[in-house]
Amino acid sequence: MAAPEYLICVECETPTYVFEWAAGRVIEAMCPVCGNDDPASFLSEEEYEAMTVDDEGDDDEEKE
Ligand SMILES: [Zn+2]
Repeated sequence: MAAPEYLICVECETPTYVFEWAAGRVIEAMCPVCGNDDPASFLSEEEYEAMTVDDEGDDDEEKE
């Protein structure tokens, strides 16, 4: 898998271009906005979209 153009910080949903990618996964990343530097807290655009689509129209469970 090729490296994505950018990653999205899941803490503040900001794209970042400052990251290291190897063997199909993030090994290092840094968010310039919130300072997050945990590689597990960044998603590729593809992963991020898959995650947000999942949330759509599915908030009934949260209602009381
Ligand atoms: Zn961030």
